[in-house]
Order: sequence, then structure tokens, then C-alpha cells
Amino acid sequence: MTAPRIIRRLDVLRAQVAAWKSAGESVAVVPTMGALHAGHLSLVKAAAADCDRVIVTIFVNPKQFNNPDDLASYPRTEEDDARKLADYRVDLIYAPDADQVYRPGFATNVSVSGVSEGLCGAHRPGHFDGVAIVVTKLFLQTQADKAFFGEKDYQQLQVVKRLVTDLDIPIEVVGCPTVRDADGLALSSRNLLLSAEQRLIAPAIHAALTEARDAIRGGADVAHALEDARRRILDAGFDSVEYLELRDAGDLHPLEVADRPARLLAAAVLGKIRLIDNIAV
Ligand code: AMP
Repeated sequence: MTAPRIIRRLDVLRAQVAAWKSAGESVAVVPTMGALHAGHLSLVKAAAADCDRVIVTIFVNPKQFNNPDDLASYPRTEEDDARKLADYRVDLIYAPDADQVYRPGFATNVSVSGVSEGLCGAHRPGHFDGVAIVVTKLFLQTQADKAFFGEKDYQQLQVVKRLVTDLDIPIEVVGCPTVRDADGLALSSRNLLLSAEQRLIAPAIHAALTEARDAIRGGADVAHALEDARRRILDAGFDSVEYLELRDAGDLHPLEVADRPARLLAAAVLGKIRLIDNIAV
């Protein structure tokens, strides 16, 4: 199939979406920062199965990067991305020019408290404010009926659900399971930056989370299980563990015992690359 059309301007996007809506068609949006892999494509598949029209957005959002090196090195592969999307029922790619998202004089913030605190929120100052503003804008710009997000970024998913509820944005947020490589490593655009040696170490996060989940399910003391998991990640060759915690699956409240639906979440640093993962308990 041919690659979907790429739209860079908001007025063109709006005209297209208005035409679909007046024909009574439902619209899905899949927000991404590009460098698409099978994880992103699973969201696209879920969107296409659910809605008449599918918009994939590709925008490397500078406001959600707290580290300038991370922003500079973030992979940008738009032509490849468009080619990959040709295999799916995608109606258009919205890859807005920067001034279509942040016009000169842009001065508005969206800040979600509670779920955005701790975990990645504690280690990436300003990150979730950046996510919240761009997601709010993409929802308002696309006017989509449903938005598809990965559980891979579990805290982000909860932040987005919270802001949609709080701001009465008429969109349904759908969370989709994490897609992994055969050795358990969660697919991530940042995996492209791993050396061959680092790639062998990287699955240790998922292995440690799985082991901790099994231990907790088997009745082990949570604090001990978390400590063992941190140790296992460091022993595998990671340079540091930013966090490895048990949280309430809904409001992300810290838990000392798994007495309700819970999530284990971790972030660890390997060389210059920071990887995150999480699993249900
Ligand atoms: P990103 O381009 O990294 O901002 O991710 C765009 C969307 O893809 C987010 O909703 C992510 O949670 C989702 N995503 C990224 N990696 C995966 C994965 N391995 N499995 C499922 N969804 C993912």
C-alpha cells in the first residue's frame, strides 16, 4: 500500500477531520514521537479495529524532554515511519510544524498533580507538564473520539486519563498492552541507541520485575522483593536504578502490601540511556 498522507498544518487537519465527522465517521488518534516500532504499530492496529478513521501523530515534543542531550539524540525516522504505516489502515499522519503546536508567545501550562508525582515525575522535572500540554493540544487539534496509548508508559497513561477526566475533554483514552522482544525487553525507540553489549543487559529490568511480581504474589515481603529486584538489575550491569516501586494500579499511590490491583514500575540507567518498564501484580 502507499504511505499515508502527511499533514503539517492545523487548518488542513481540521478541514479533513470536519469532513469525516460530518459523514458520521469515528476518529482515532495515536500520539507518537516517531521512530515507530511494533509497540506503536500495535496501537495503530487497535485504533484501526475500533474506529473508521485513524490519525497517527508524529511530534518530538521539546517540552517533555528535561535533558537536552536526550532531545538531540532522540531518533527521527519520518520516512521510514510513513513506510511502516503503509501496511496499516492509517488515514493520515499529522506531523505538525513546530509553530502549529507552540506559536510564538505560547504561555499556557497544563499540570496534573497526584499521579504525575514520584516515579518518572520525580526524576524528570517538567516531563509530565510537557506531556500534558502536548496531549491536550493534540486532542483538541484532532478532535478524535478515541486515543490509544501504551501501558509501556504506565504513569503517562494515568496522567492522560486524569487530565481528560478533569478537563472534560470528550475523548476516550484506551490503554494497550506493552509489546516486548522475545527476551522480554519492552520495545522502545530508545532501544535503537543501545550498543550490542547494552542490548544484552537491557532485559534485566523485565526479568527483575517478573521475579518480584512472582515473589509478591507468593506472599513475600514487598520491601524485600523490591530490594532483590533492584540488586538484580545492578548485578546485570545497569549503572543505576532510579526507582523500582509498587503502586496502586489506578491512582499510583505507593503500596507496602499488594492488597489491591497494583503495578510494579521501574526506571534504570544503562550508560547514557534510561529505560523504563512496568508490569501488573
Ligand atoms: P513514544 O513515541 O515513545 O512517545 O510512544 C508513543 C506511544 O506508543 C505511547 O502511548 C507509548 O506508551 C506507546 N508505546 C511505546 N512503546 C510501546 C510498547 N513497547 N508497547 C506498547 N506501546 C508502546
